[in-house]
Amino acid sequence: MRLTKAFQPTLKEVPAEAQIASHRLMLRAGLVRQTSSGIYAWLPAGLRVLRNIEQIVREEQDAIGAQEVLMPTLQSAELWRRSGRYDAYGPEMLRIQDRHGRDLLYGPTNEEMITDIFGSSVKSYKELPKALYHIQWKFRDEVRPRFGVMRGREFLMKDAYSFDASYEGAVASYRRMMLSYLRIFQRLGVRAVPMVADTGPIGGDLSHEFLVLAPTGESGVFFDAALEEQDWLSRPVDCDDAESLATFFSTVTDHYAATDEKHDEAEWAKVPDERKREGRGIEVGHIFYFGTKYTASMGIEVSGPDGAPFHPHMGSYGVGVSRLVGAIIEASHDDAGIIWPASVAPYRAAILNLRQGDEACDAICDRIYGTDPENMLYDDRSERAGVKFNDADLMGHPWQIIVGPRGAKEGKVELKQRATGERFELSVEDALAKIGAA
Ligand code: ATP
Ligand code: MG
Repeated sequence: MRLTKAFQPTLKEVPAEAQIASHRLMLRAGLVRQTSSGIYAWLPAGLRVLRNIEQIVREEQDAIGAQEVLMPTLQSAELWRRSGRYDAYGPEMLRIQDRHGRDLLYGPTNEEMITDIFGSSVKSYKELPKALYHIQWKFRDEVRPRFGVMRGREFLMKDAYSFDASYEGAVASYRRMMLSYLRIFQRLGVRAVPMVADTGPIGGDLSHEFLVLAPTGESGVFFDAALEEQDWLSRPVDCDDAESLATFFSTVTDHYAATDEKHDEAEWAKVPDERKREGRGIEVGHIFYFGTKYTASMGIEVSGPDGAPFHPHMGSYGVGVSRLVGAIIEASHDDAGIIWPASVAPYRAAILNLRQGDEACDAICDRIYGTDPENMLYDDRSERAGVKFNDADLMGHPWQIIVGPRGAKEGKVELKQRATGERFELSVEDALAKIGAA
């Protein structure tokens, strides 16, 4: 994308309403615009990040055999009356009436709808297990929307639901999701530690939240320092084998890690003092098993091997896709701006033409840009070098390819790595090879 053609409204001023770095940077870099309290429009660069995250989530959910569906944002109140949650949910639920006076709601989550869809199609234990997910906008009328997309009212969530014939099967499904989540966060370039969590109004007894450690996080966290370094994915896991999943799960959960809601002083006391870590974290994912809560309340049964009907066991598994954009920035930025992990960056590289109109500079920039225009942002504005440097640092592309008149004459460019600040003087070919675009 050529910057002169792009819609890329960066701000020079620090927006007054933004209290934390990620919110400030998202507004300054022109990733989002607030349209009303807690509701955001995604601008081109922000949307590219959102889509990159979505795609990684999708690939890793597919990899454990979950299948994607797409359920609507609007749901019938009738479904929620069946589960008993219509009255229980409270003012966070946005309730709407259509022209016929029928009660609808903008979905804050989808347990009821997926249970109904599942129940109307699956009749026998032979069809189990099943895992379905979708990536869809949710609405929760949060009392205090804040921190930008981190606590919005409308937000993008990946929510998955598993259906199993037995408790043992459901536990395997739960562990498979744990595996998928750790793979997702690793690919996103962000460390999210799984912690024992409360099951909340949804009920059940197996529940973990995934927290990105950051001082601005809303949750208090207590964990064993051993977790800071752990690489849970170093050994292969067979996600179709219950034993392999069990081994994996025990290595992930054998150190103390809990959010404030579930913190247990007696267990905490057993952690050696020098390994105790207390801090704050941002919840970016949550997995839980809740048994037959919805299949029973909504009257969903399938027939077992002996012909007797039973209620399948369920779990649900959320990832805060739009919240992750803020959380990744919170975990990866400096005073100059965002430092995107390569896997989610809006563009792999920015090309900074330091003398627009200079024949040699223009020729080299065009040549570099031509190799991969989809994934490069070419700053072809007639701006001063300083402006281009600042904007590139703010936008946080992993690489900056800096083309100045002196180097250009010799066919050389300067390559800067955003994360480390390292600079390399290289030929065009070597620079392209280094950023992996050749
Ligand atoms: P929280 O405790 O932060 O309010 P929750 O426990 O209500 O979140 P879940 O129902 O577990 O959230 O939803 C799954 C994921 O959706 C969360 O882990 C979080 O990443 C994301 N999420 C929840 N509420 C919001 C929100 N208001 N804005 C953005 N993302 C959200
Ligand atoms: Mg939660």
